[in-house]
Amino acid sequence: MSVWRCPVCGGIFTEDSRSLVCAKRHTFDRARSGYVNLLPVNHKRTKDPGDNALMVQARRRFLSKGYYKPLSDALCRIVCGYMPENGILLDAGCGEGYYTKNVCSALETARKTAEVYGVDIAKCAVDAAAKSCRSADFSVASIFHLPLGNGICDVMMSLFAPYCGDEFRRVIKTGGKMILVIPGEEHLMGLKRAVYDNPYKNQVQDYKLDGFNFLGAEPVKDEIFLDNAEDIQSLFSMTPYYYKTGREEHRRLEALRELKTEISFIILQYEKEV
Ligand SMILES: [Zn+2]
Repeated sequence: MSVWRCPVCGGIFTEDSRSLVCAKRHTFDRARSGYVNLLPVNHKRTKDPGDNALMVQARRRFLSKGYYKPLSDALCRIVCGYMPENGILLDAGCGEGYYTKNVCSALETARKTAEVYGVDIAKCAVDAAAKSCRSADFSVASIFHLPLGNGICDVMMSLFAPYCGDEFRRVIKTGGKMILVIPGEEHLMGLKRAVYDNPYKNQVQDYKLDGFNFLGAEPVKDEIFLDNAEDIQSLFSMTPYYYKTGREEHRRLEALRELKTEISFIILQYEKEV
């Protein structure tokens, strides 16, 4: 039986080699790469929601060079620490699966048996994730309407994605863990200094969240050096500033041939309240 739930009626699926079918005969085919598209047409605000293919490609290229490895390593250690034997892990907003894949490898190295799932609204990102990580099961869906039953996740991780409190709380077990990664205050200050006249630090919100006990916040800080324009462009296209930046700032960025910048993240850890 599949862990996924029918996005139309909430029913459970039976699965054959190619498709998932619920009792009401709502049918969802698996793509060639193995993911299943569970996004009902009426939940799409645009034809291709989420990150586009170019953004996914840029991010995959950038991450594959290991610039964010310190974050990935810390995340893997924390997830492995929280995962119970035979537990269920969800990556909500998994993108092209860089962290999903690394966590799968870390669990394997730690000899922990787990089921790992990834959800993202961008079809091209999920397709890339399914191709690069065969140990997890991926679906295209909104993290605001997760195609999962209540209280099934032992651990849920969500990196740089919107926080969907009610929906996250619904799918996490009582006592289950939630790991959120947010940018730290100094994240990419070097990049901002190179582009903006008046760069500002990130605002870090209060850590307290309704329905969860706060367990801790682990900072991850490093400095990275990018020695080519393509990586700099890739990094910038991954940021929320990309679309809010004027032509002059884009020109400054395009002129950069190398860049040294801080990276700074906070790994927030929570437990779902009883
Ligand atoms: Zn159904």
